[in-house]
Amino acid sequence: MSSFETRLFINNEFADAKSGEYLTVYNPTDGSLVSDKIHSANEQDVDAAVQAAQRAFKGTWGKTDPTARARAMLKFADLVREHAGEIARLETLAMGSAIATQTMGYTTLADLFVYYAGLADKIHGETAYPTSAGKYKITQREPIGVCAGIGAWNVSAILFGWKAAPALAAGNTVVFKPSEKAPLGTLALGPLIQQCFPPGSINIVNGGGKTGQLLASHMEIHQIAFTGSTATGRKIQEYAARSNLKRVSLELGGKSPSVIFEDADIELAAAKSMEGAIANSGQICAMASRIFVQESIADKFIQVLKGSFEQVSKSGIIGDPSDKNTQVGPLADKAQFKRVMEYLDIGKKEGELVTGGVQWGAKDGLYVQPTIFKNLGKDSRIVREEVFGPVVTVQTFTSEEDAIKLANDSIFGLSACVYTRSISRALRVTREIEAGTIAVNDWYFPSPDTPFGGVKQSGYGREGGLEGLNDYLQTKTIQINMNAP
Ligand code: NAP
Repeated sequence: MSSFETRLFINNEFADAKSGEYLTVYNPTDGSLVSDKIHSANEQDVDAAVQAAQRAFKGTWGKTDPTARARAMLKFADLVREHAGEIARLETLAMGSAIATQTMGYTTLADLFVYYAGLADKIHGETAYPTSAGKYKITQREPIGVCAGIGAWNVSAILFGWKAAPALAAGNTVVFKPSEKAPLGTLALGPLIQQCFPPGSINIVNGGGKTGQLLASHMEIHQIAFTGSTATGRKIQEYAARSNLKRVSLELGGKSPSVIFEDADIELAAAKSMEGAIANSGQICAMASRIFVQESIADKFIQVLKGSFEQVSKSGIIGDPSDKNTQVGPLADKAQFKRVMEYLDIGKKEGELVTGGVQWGAKDGLYVQPTIFKNLGKDSRIVREEVFGPVVTVQTFTSEEDAIKLANDSIFGLSACVYTRSISRALRVTREIEAGTIAVNDWYFPSPDTPFGGVKQSGYGREGGLEGLNDYLQTKTIQINMNAP
């Protein structure tokens, strides 16, 4: 893909932003300019997108038969799959993620549309409540209207799919804002959307935080699904409360624990911990960045983990993200790089550096060497705050009870990993850990058919799976007087 779209996508057409304002994106591999002409939506633009979505909801898409909705979604899924590689290149260009990772993101987007297309004609209510003598009651589940989505930049395709696919399957229409750090891939979906959906069904408005605020505050948007940091999630909830009390679902940050017991397979635990830490250069919300290992195996585990982290730099899998063999690209942009480098300094002050802790490669490339810290106090900032880079901390525990306490000692509760050969321990510990998703003897990665989301300050609501449809439906109860003539 030699050129790319930079305008807004409203009512099935690309249009200049009325704001006359533009966003700029640089390639994090070498700092070169990608574009300084990415249109940024203002209030008028957001209103135009919402009106288009409103018309599609009241007319075309909202009145489309569920099986026809499913067919449109399946067609879109096929087109996305066909173009996954070339669209993924645009993500790679803008935010440096490895092409293989982002291609997987776009095929997952296709899978999400297939999954939710299958549910479009299976949205049922209930009938006849026996307690209501003489009154026959039925419930029906209805779409909400115009739904908004706001995404983070790390896996734009999946974040878009988690929101748009269930919303459309339920008969709603969508206005989506990608992150200003990675708008190009989402915009490239425009021509595919044109081929499958009536005008206004899916609208894409680029812009920064101000555009997001306009969506969260809009009086004609009745549901907003947000993915991003906990700090912004808090604001989204506030905007919703101050405007029209729109429904909110929040997929927020994490500081996920990985608990490694002495009966675990150490090689497996180290390999999986490394894989999880370097995936998308550590820019994955569910990444298990707090590792707790039982004291009796701690030295051995740290030694193996150090070896596998150091192998990343030696094995050639870190480098040019447009190369299909690369697994670790640069961080997304200068701000993200600066943030991670600051945390590396904090970690060096608070604990002991095991490996990494520095930039990788040439000065202009925003790469960070996969990093491990140990010997940290439980209140260290590097242990408590989300870094969002390839950085883990390792601490020790003595007993199962101790491990659970340490794992739960966080404001976040997005995900967790448990490594043990004991099935009963795995069942006990997964029950006690406060998290929305847990992997046993693995690192966690979401799939279309299961719900994903957090507890505590990692947010609420679930995306994916049958539960992912709930946020896009509202229930109406209808009462019929059976004694009426
Ligand atoms: P962020 O700064 O909170 O931004 C997320 C989105 O919100 C972006 O589109 C951003 O726009 C927009 N935004 C910023 N300020 C806003 C405001 N005042 N009102 C409305 N929208 C606003 O987060 P990020 O740095 O993009 O993403 C990293 C975070 O996302 C991490 O905490 C990570 O854990 C989390 N995340 C969570 C999940 C999950 O499923 N739980 C998945 C992926 C990422 P601009 O970017 O254009 O400024």
